[in-house]
Amino acid sequence: MIISMRLHATREEIDEVRKQVEHFGYKVHSIEGEERVVIGVVGLGDVTACMESIEAMPQVENVVRISAPYKFVSKEFRKEKTQIKVNGTQIGGSEFVVMAGPCSVESEKQIMQSAEGVAKAGAKLLRGGAFKPRTSPYDFQGMEEEGLKLLQKAKQATGLAIITEVMTDRDVDLVARYADVMQVGARNMQNFMLLKALGKCGRPVLLKRGLSSTVKELLMSAEYITAHGNPEVILCERGIRTFETVTRNTCDIAAIPALNELTHLPVILDPSHATGKRSLVPAVSRAGVAIGADGLLVEVHPAPEKAISDGAQSLDLAQFQKMMKDLEPYIQLWSDSRRRETAASAVAGRRLVC
Ligand code: PEP
Ligand code: MN
Repeated sequence: MIISMRLHATREEIDEVRKQVEHFGYKVHSIEGEERVVIGVVGLGDVTACMESIEAMPQVENVVRISAPYKFVSKEFRKEKTQIKVNGTQIGGSEFVVMAGPCSVESEKQIMQSAEGVAKAGAKLLRGGAFKPRTSPYDFQGMEEEGLKLLQKAKQATGLAIITEVMTDRDVDLVARYADVMQVGARNMQNFMLLKALGKCGRPVLLKRGLSSTVKELLMSAEYITAHGNPEVILCERGIRTFETVTRNTCDIAAIPALNELTHLPVILDPSHATGKRSLVPAVSRAGVAIGADGLLVEVHPAPEKAISDGAQSLDLAQFQKMMKDLEPYIQLWSDSRRRETAASAVAGRRLVC
């Protein structure tokens, strides 16, 4: 059950609702927005009696019963897509947002060239890992804070917003000083201490789907972040492990419309990790636009053959520019259908259950 308080309800009024909910044997998680507090109710109890009692309280705007185990992120909680403003760009809104840049921040020259190239081609966010989750402990682990400083420099030079990965709860404050969007890598999707810390980080979070995680598990991880106070979560499909070896991962393209039915959170496709092969990135990106993703997260490197990580799946700047140009007609169709969907969203219901 989710309780939306009236705008500007007082602390005493909120506490009164909380006590009433607890009286029925439930636990309470609240999200404190600037204007409105939303209370998530979980546990076992007499739902009907509790709902009736809470609905009767004058400080309560409305109460919605939610059957899915993920509450705040479910479509039942909110029909309209959540729009997340990042540096003047709206993710989940009327713009198809492309985030691009190298897998890792490697040097000042590399990140500056990447930033200038992707900005010129139309990207709105610069990606680049300063903390790198690597399968081998002997591989490059990232430039850490020095890399974050280079990202900041690239932001100042180009105006691009920064998305970069945070790997542990200990680094959340540090990364939040430099990042506009905090990326949670696939290997950390169920790092619950990190997810809880990100609930309080004051920045939007891009949560990547785990290598072997289901859509439902992805939503439960997003719920951790929202239940701990941060409603600004962007989901990212980046391919999953299957028996297939032609591609690095198997791009679960159907997860995108599935997520669009199940959640109001924006959904982004990463065609680079989803394929592992540069030649496949443009086609899979087109599929992402056509199937209703809210944007792309693409690996781009000024010299992929020299990249320290993920060179094989990185586009060079010219290839990225060409891909962006080739995507234009698809993005035009995307914009038309997004306008229609927004108009119809008031009547759209939830069809899938997971
Ligand atoms: C990355 O974005 O470079 C990355 C490490 O991705 P993932 O967590 O999806 O493997
Ligand atoms: Mn990578």
